[in-house]
Amino acid sequence: MAEGRGDATPVSTAALGPIVEIASRRFAVPFQCPCCGAAPDSELTIPVMRAKGRALAEDSAKRLDFPYCRRCLAHVEAFQGAGVVSAGITLAGLLLGVAVALLVHSIAGVVMIVAALGVAYGLLMNRRAQAAAKCSPACPSADTAVTYFGWSGSSSSFAFRSPTYTARFAEDNTTKLVNASRGLSRLLEGHRVARLAVPTPASTMVVPPPRTGREWIERIEKASTRIARRHDLHNALEMIQDTTERSELLRAATRAELAAVRTKLERLS
Ligand SMILES: [Zn+2]
Ligand SMILES: [Zn+2]
Repeated sequence: MAEGRGDATPVSTAALGPIVEIASRRFAVPFQCPCCGAAPDSELTIPVMRAKGRALAEDSAKRLDFPYCRRCLAHVEAFQGAGVVSAGITLAGLLLGVAVALLVHSIAGVVMIVAALGVAYGLLMNRRAQAAAKCSPACPSADTAVTYFGWSGSSSSFAFRSPTYTARFAEDNTTKLVNASRGLSRLLEGHRVARLAVPTPASTMVVPPPRTGREWIERIEKASTRIARRHDLHNALEMIQDTTERSELLRAATRAELAAVRTKLERLS
């Protein structure tokens, strides 16, 4: 969807959220929607973004899949689609305006360009407002909530628009966190204090019995996305110690992964 952004001009990162830098190519991704925080039931591919003053290694991943919820996926698609339509109208208006200026009259050409810019801007604002209307109150923005700056050769960098998700992601990767800015450190401290101030009401919680190997396999087979399946497999392998059951879990996950690849191949052939 937004794949083209991978080669876009370097951007200023200020509006995207504090930079989270992880000294590894491997990192933990919290299993929640990075936009609204809901349970994810889909995925969003985030293309790498070049940023001013930030090196991007040749062998950096060009895109990453993040768990996302369908509702947020819909507002991101609407928001980014708005920009594409308006860019098309602007380009068409410019070309037509130049042609009219050369062939008919320069003022007529300028009027045409100004009119096209006005229509494109009006449409952009209108469609962005429609995208914003699809957001939940917890969404920090109608645009993508995740920015991936790629692998620099020594660290992977990210920015998240949601302060809560920023703190969760940084906490899940604490041991590999490097170059934390003052803003990020303050955010992490605030998150820690807020959690201590709101203790979990343990007395009202009912803890269900742990899942059996069979139940984990069913969960893995029914997982709606690849990320959800890997998340379940990871948790299952932490809980299940029996060697036979562990290899059954791995077999179930492999079967499901291969089935997805086979479906893709069948669609291509
Ligand atoms: Zn969401
Ligand atoms: Zn959202």
